Amino acid sequence: MFEMMTGMINNIFFIIFPIVLYQMLAGAGKRNFFVDYRVTMTILFSISIILCMVFPYQILTDDYIFDLRQVPLIVGALYGGPVISAVLFLVSAIGRILIGGDGMYIAVLNLFVVAAGVPFLRPAYMRMSRGKKVATVFIISILSLLFNMFAGHLLFGDPIHDIINIWLMLMLNQGMMIVLTALLIEHIVRQELLLNTLMKHEKLESVSHFAAAVSHELRNPMQSIKGFIQLMQAYDYSRDKQLEFHETILDEINSAESLIDDYLIYAKPVYGELDRMSVNDEVCGVLKLLGPYANSLGVELFCHPAESEIYIRGDRQKFRQAMVNIIRNGVESMPEGGEMIARIKVQASKVIVEIADQGVGMTKEEVERLGEPYFSNKIKGTGLGMMVTYSVIHQMKGIIIVNSEKGLGTVFKLVFPRLE
Ligand code: ADP
Ligand code: MG
Repeated sequence: MFEMMTGMINNIFFIIFPIVLYQMLAGAGKRNFFVDYRVTMTILFSISIILCMVFPYQILTDDYIFDLRQVPLIVGALYGGPVISAVLFLVSAIGRILIGGDGMYIAVLNLFVVAAGVPFLRPAYMRMSRGKKVATVFIISILSLLFNMFAGHLLFGDPIHDIINIWLMLMLNQGMMIVLTALLIEHIVRQELLLNTLMKHEKLESVSHFAAAVSHELRNPMQSIKGFIQLMQAYDYSRDKQLEFHETILDEINSAESLIDDYLIYAKPVYGELDRMSVNDEVCGVLKLLGPYANSLGVELFCHPAESEIYIRGDRQKFRQAMVNIIRNGVESMPEGGEMIARIKVQASKVIVEIADQGVGMTKEEVERLGEPYFSNKIKGTGLGMMVTYSVIHQMKGIIIVNSEKGLGTVFKLVFPRLE
């Protein structure tokens, strides 16, 4: 009796382990149990079948070796479909043949009938409610054992009445196990479905927020452009005055344009053309471009390129935008002026771009919130710059490490895979 219990507990463990493992391995929001990880799951289920057979239940007579191999087989066939069913059948049949004994033929025949028949139920099964699914696996499991019992009786004349209590116990045992397994899988699937809807909802939420923010931001420049044009229509301004207005209008148009650019970068994360970019040229180029702007605010920009030419892959325009956003934040963080230094280094297959300022710095909490939309400590801030930057750098398979000390300054460290 004790041995039987050990065997049973072992078998239960063997059956549960691939399913638990699946839940750990599967990416969030996968919808179909088994299908997204066909190969892995088939291997895991095969291992589970083999382990069940190697460590079976010991029941009364030697003739009746019993194990739960049918549970992974039936479940695999239902959730995985015919090909997986065939693979699992081969694994279990070969295993059973290797074990040998008189019961071998019936057992293999039994496995074959299950593996061939169950996949046909799959389409209907997938549409069933949870309760019906549970009933279905239970019935399949019972039928399979009944088949075994009657085939034994018919082909080998095994007396049914002698062993009926054993069979009954087996049926209940395997039936319970397969029900438990199906419940566990259905629970996982439901959890994943929930996560999926949640993620979709979250995404929509953030897009609609973003659209609202952008249109709000766009309204300001539009209003002022409209205002100036109305002024010019209403009065006769001198040529000089008109040129001044034109200047302002162009400025407003530019700022609206850059806002739209930011938005597009965020809304269209998929790449078109990827450029091979020289890191030295790009980074130092942006610093040079922003030099006059920084100087006007009392900030000096320095660039230390790497000794050799190094390349990374990415969208040039977006990368420049990301650099501009970082540098502008740095400059804005130094109201009293100061220095900003960019350094480019190579480390094995990585390229590192370090951008340091001597500004106000950030607390740990602030650093953690970087990249979050609308996180801004500035009166006229949008809180979109860092979000765009993070999204661009991540698209380039880069990572961002921020070291900041309140009152001392901030270092942005960007690490990219190096291109040969
Ligand atoms: P915005 O510049 O419009 O506020 P960002 O997304 O560019 O939005 O930046 C978000 C916030 O992160 C800023 O408001 C600022 O508080 C903080 N921040 C970003 N970079 C720095 C920096 N180099 N030094 C100090 N604070 C920074
Ligand atoms: Mg900014």
